[in-house]
Amino acid sequence: MNVLKFGGTSVGSVERMKHVANLILKDKGNIVVLSAMSGTTNQLDEICQYLSKGNQPGALEIINALRAKYDAVILDLLGRDNRYAEEAVVAVSQILALLRTLTAHDFTQVEAKEILAQGELISTNIFHQYLKSLGVKSALLPALEFMRIDARCEPDMRFITSRLERLLEVYVDAEVYLTQGYICRNHDGMIDNLRRGGSDYTASLIGAAVQAGEIQIWTDIDGMHNNDPRYVENTSPVSSLHFEEAAELAYFGAKILHPACVLPARIANIPVRLLNTLEPDRPGTLIYDTPPSGTIKAVAAKDNITAIKIKSGRTLLAYGFLSKVFETFARYHTSIDMIATSEVGVTVTIDDTSHLADIVDDLRCFGSVTVDPDMVIICVVGDLEWHNSGFEARAVTALGDIPVRMISYGGSNHNISMLVSAADKVKALRYLSQHLF
Ligand code: ASP
Ligand code: MG
Repeated sequence: MNVLKFGGTSVGSVERMKHVANLILKDKGNIVVLSAMSGTTNQLDEICQYLSKGNQPGALEIINALRAKYDAVILDLLGRDNRYAEEAVVAVSQILALLRTLTAHDFTQVEAKEILAQGELISTNIFHQYLKSLGVKSALLPALEFMRIDARCEPDMRFITSRLERLLEVYVDAEVYLTQGYICRNHDGMIDNLRRGGSDYTASLIGAAVQAGEIQIWTDIDGMHNNDPRYVENTSPVSSLHFEEAAELAYFGAKILHPACVLPARIANIPVRLLNTLEPDRPGTLIYDTPPSGTIKAVAAKDNITAIKIKSGRTLLAYGFLSKVFETFARYHTSIDMIATSEVGVTVTIDDTSHLADIVDDLRCFGSVTVDPDMVIICVVGDLEWHNSGFEARAVTALGDIPVRMISYGGSNHNISMLVSAADKVKALRYLSQHLF
């Protein structure tokens, strides 16, 4: 059994949905995870924005737009006067009625999460009817019945696994098991989600729970590229990556994969394959635990980074100094990306500056503090095990005349991070492509 996830653009139009159906029907008995049609989650989010400002008419206007959009989708995909079209209309009408009811409620995070969950419920209901209209035995597995996060917002793997197992048993002879990405329940049983882009994470959690043969993430690009195609010409897909390399790239900017998605697959040691819906025969990128070694594979950049340098006063790097620095960031729930230390000080980087002023204030107790805003982390990923000589030198040399604020290497076997000014980002990415690939 494989898990196949199709993102919003892959199911973004009737034509695309038909194409996805062709793809998934090549093989029977897999679990298919769908996102909301592209644009829908953003519209649901707009509804929430309106409601948070008390603007009910604004929210209703978007619900009407959704109504028109989905009426057209259903008509185009399923026609009319047949039971599949009718069932799809009923399902979508119920969802839109619920949205309308929610606009009349007090608006809290509970309503917001419920509203945001409706996009995946709509897309899967429509697609389920489409598969049935093709004569396919499709089983719609409600994600809200098996996907759950605990009080720390971590997936409750035991619950997910046992619930899924039971659900799959109910539909033993299904040809396709269809379910919603992104949505879940929290430990209180309320509707929640796995954060924007979270359908990848859903697929990975399901893959781990059912011990899938493979987790396939279908998008509209042919795998992870060795550099950012928005800024660098002639990038090419990376054919294979280690789980850790993929996790670094996802975290450091490769938009194709949700950063959390790699971990469950990695723990369960299930390969993740990134594939292109538009060119399904392309090899894409395979993420697994034993990819070929000895090469640098890709480069990515993470924006909006702030560097904070703390120069210790009299005590130099006395014991306890670093832990006090880290405690300060932890107190403000701010996570640190990069660290560089010297005998007299330490520099760390953060991307969430919402508590920067307080953090800096507190850090001043330990020494002098300097802040460098508008930086980017340039992350070079590959087989960077320390015995492999020359790779780190090549990465640093490639930056040539670009001023480098900070370098971090040796934290894992797969990454060198270099901090440069945001103004030098594109140049840095281009230089690295020229020198490394
Ligand atoms: N529909 C959600 C979003 O747009 C989840 C996803 O697409 O993965 O973020
Ligand atoms: Mg996505």
